[in-house]
Amino acid sequence: MVCKICRSEKRKQIDKALVDGASLRTIADRFRVSKTGLIRHQANHIPAILAAAKEATEAANADTLLARIQKLIDDGQDILKRAKRAKE
Ligand SMILES: [Zn+2]
Repeated sequence: MVCKICRSEKRKQIDKALVDGASLRTIADRFRVSKTGLIRHQANHIPAILAAAKEATEAANADTLLARIQKLIDDGQDILKRAKRAKE
């Protein structure tokens, strides 16, 4: 059976509301979905979404770190070049 929440056009907003800790009653009323569907979606699908989001964040952080290291290396090489030039 396909999850109605996952198929909803409002899925992102619903996911956000669930992660933000809004009550199921509130979410069910706001997005006109069933509480049962929300419970099932929260139990079965939210963990996967959170895991994917965490992975994406970590990947982004790794990229940032790599970029910063690269910049430090570039800066270091610049300084080295300038120092060499100053000697000549
Ligand atoms: Zn779902």
